[in-house]
Amino acid sequence: MWICKFVAESLAKVRPIRDCLSTARGAVGGGSALTGSRITAVDQSSGHDGATRPKGSPVIEIDHVTKRFGDYVAVADADFSIASGEFFSMLGPSGCGKTTTLRMIAGFESPTDGAIRLEGADVSRVPPHKRNVNTVFQHYALFPHMSVWDNVAYGPRSKKLDKTEVKKRVDELLEIVRLTDFAERRPGQLSGGQQQRVALARALVNYPSALLLDEPLGALDLKLRHAMQFELKRIQREVGITFIYVTHDQEEALTMSDRIAVMNAGNVDQIGTPTEIYDRPSTVFVASFIGQANLWSGTQTGRANRDFVEVEVLGTTLKARPGDTTIEPGGHATLMVRPERVRVSTDAPAGDVATVRATVTDLTFQGPVVRLSLAAPDDSPIVAHVGPEQQLPLLRPGDQVHVCWAPEASLVLPAADIPTTEDLEEMLDDS
Ligand code: ATP
Repeated sequence: MWICKFVAESLAKVRPIRDCLSTARGAVGGGSALTGSRITAVDQSSGHDGATRPKGSPVIEIDHVTKRFGDYVAVADADFSIASGEFFSMLGPSGCGKTTTLRMIAGFESPTDGAIRLEGADVSRVPPHKRNVNTVFQHYALFPHMSVWDNVAYGPRSKKLDKTEVKKRVDELLEIVRLTDFAERRPGQLSGGQQQRVALARALVNYPSALLLDEPLGALDLKLRHAMQFELKRIQREVGITFIYVTHDQEEALTMSDRIAVMNAGNVDQIGTPTEIYDRPSTVFVASFIGQANLWSGTQTGRANRDFVEVEVLGTTLKARPGDTTIEPGGHATLMVRPERVRVSTDAPAGDVATVRATVTDLTFQGPVVRLSLAAPDDSPIVAHVGPEQQLPLLRPGDQVHVCWAPEASLVLPAADIPTTEDLEEMLDDS
């Protein structure tokens, strides 16, 4: 029996994913370096599996790292590297192991197995204060009795840098975080967003090899969070320092990151650019955690031609884009189609498209799109996001329509339990 679930509603609060993706696309590839820092913009290339990888020597290498707490495996064989000048995010639900990974990079935890290298040197057993990385937490911990200028100057003064160098660095960082006019204020006289920018300037002023950020926007209200996402990305591009960012918020990760590691129950499920992860998720978990997705269980029956396979799904056989995992003919599989790729029409569609007859069950006006809920002949739910360009006639629940999509808009994923809307809500609530 076909199992089909639409896994999306709990994510509806998220800004349109395509906005985030276009921001991220625009963000990649550029930015000047902080004066005196040797960091340059990230240089990336496409690997044979399509995933973008950093070129050149990495700043951080996570070399087959496992972390156990007693019998519990918090991080299982993580193996990836992060390039110089990259904005790299670790994204996943609560308890997936992202903070533990960040803490191992910072030196607050040691790997049980494997090694962590910072600029080529094994730092697995090196204490935090001897690693050239800095961490920004949700709570800024600024010195309340000191001015903004003195807060930022604290690090270089502790390093006994000469006065001219301290002034040069502090003035430069305050300019970058746009707080020059607030230099004489105390932290208590600043807004939450301004305090967060002081914390950033303070963490960057010693020119670390990487800045580690653990949900740094968590304490801010939603509007300020949105504004700070753009600010953070701008600051990162200006200073050119590697940022490693931990979040459970897909919008934050998609908006700011050059690459994202999506983590699930201690495993890194996929690493890629925001576009790669959205267009070509490698697992059902990634497809359902990032954005909205129709996911239907079925069977891959064989190849249709060089580019496509055939999948028995929704009570019919459809041509579909194969994923990265090889599935033998007759093997269980999951078919994914994003709701904005589903077309709806009253006439039978022409051309090389995957087509299913469906009955309208519900319509919701959502501003830029109408969200159409439909039922396939085998009762599987289908969701379509229909924009004004489709010029749909007035539809009512009970109407019969044709839904279709281009075969390249679909993706075959390995079979897995498909999370329900309730599962996803729980995942987000826990985060
Ligand atoms: P969150 O977003 O809630 O912080 P996370 O993805 O960052 O989640 P981690 O903090 O890395 O998750 O924790 C991963 C798992 O390891 C969790 O189940 C957590 O309870 C467990 N864990 C973390 N630190 C310890 C510890 N010191 N002792 C025992 N278990 C721990």
